[in-house]
Amino acid sequence: MLATLSRLPKDSILGLAALARADERSNKIDLTVGVYMDDNGLCPVMRAVQEAQQQLVQAEVSKAYLPPQGDPTFVAEMPKLVLGAGHRALVETRTATIQTPGGCGALRIASEVLAVANPSAKVWLPNPTWPVHEPLLGSVGLKFARYDYYDYATHSLNFERMMQDLQGVKAGDAVLLHGCCHNPCGADLNAEQWQIVADLLLERGAIPLIDIAYQGLGDDLEHDALGVRMLASQLPEVLIAASCSKNLGLYRERTGATIFVTQSAEHAETALSQALGAARRLYSMPPAHGAILAGKVLADAHLNAMWQQELQSMTQRIQGLRNQLSVALTAATDCDFSFVAQEKGMFSFLGLTPAQVLQLREEQAVYMLDSSRINVAGLKDATVEPLAQAIAGVLR
Ligand code: PMP
Repeated sequence: MLATLSRLPKDSILGLAALARADERSNKIDLTVGVYMDDNGLCPVMRAVQEAQQQLVQAEVSKAYLPPQGDPTFVAEMPKLVLGAGHRALVETRTATIQTPGGCGALRIASEVLAVANPSAKVWLPNPTWPVHEPLLGSVGLKFARYDYYDYATHSLNFERMMQDLQGVKAGDAVLLHGCCHNPCGADLNAEQWQIVADLLLERGAIPLIDIAYQGLGDDLEHDALGVRMLASQLPEVLIAASCSKNLGLYRERTGATIFVTQSAEHAETALSQALGAARRLYSMPPAHGAILAGKVLADAHLNAMWQQELQSMTQRIQGLRNQLSVALTAATDCDFSFVAQEKGMFSFLGLTPAQVLQLREEQAVYMLDSSRINVAGLKDATVEPLAQAIAGVLR
């Protein structure tokens, strides 16, 4: 039977990352996968996470299952991190949180519950978006519509087109929004634009599905959550998929949460029961290690302060690399790359053609996605100038 299967192509991002790993050229620059690297090219275990891990190793007496909802401390802390401790939805106990295997698990649980609530819901995805949104949400059976988001010509958010497209949103639809640090384009909504989106969704009776996988890596933990907090205070219902992969560096521990903001405490309980049902169908209990560490870091004042300090230094380093790259590219090419410095988070589109991207890969050992999306956090101080020169070479 298995012999009848046809082979799927490799995942486009992971396949390219494997190609980069196998490349032994000493001048290799790998800007493919969205993983934060330090200046030594290492994705570090954050200091607060290390300390929490030592505490855990000393104190852990059991590997029995976590409760299906997840680690209680983690589940209590995550909505406070995302929404802010005094948020009215929390004060009014109109939220429910379930721990999930990463942000991917959070998106999947959110979409499972959405599909039960409204099987004919259309999910509006930004164009472009993270390519895994479609398989993650689509395998639940949800259908998609697209709204234009990024203008490749001006290297910026095309808010006018976005709002034109979103005029098609109907009651019961869901609109997927990147909470901050848009993947792949790095262009985010400002406060005024979030407000316009909130007004439209309220008027239409549509629900936002906010994917927040990079909180803290744009400006800071508070500012990056501005949009999600605004929507959660103005709309009756919000679905949130949060990830601890990037901001706590817990990638392989698969740590995330789905947060449901509902109209009442009772609706929150009901949404949670559906989320637990979906988790039971998919994987039963979430993995423990990462969430226990994240819970400790978030709940303990000393670890939390240590974490925030390190996170802020990572974010400043990314912004520093953006500034350096913007200057180096503009100088090397005579084109305006100032947009690289203005965008937020780990990703930018450089505006190269697939042929130029291929040439960079083959001739210069520079790896980026075919779309010319780069992970800025994959750069080092020492690779900024060589990258700018390599790009200038293919633009000539
Ligand atoms: N959403 C976006 C936009 C992402 O970029 C990612 C990770 N690349 C995720 C969700 C999922 O993150 P996780 O690794 O925690 O599943």
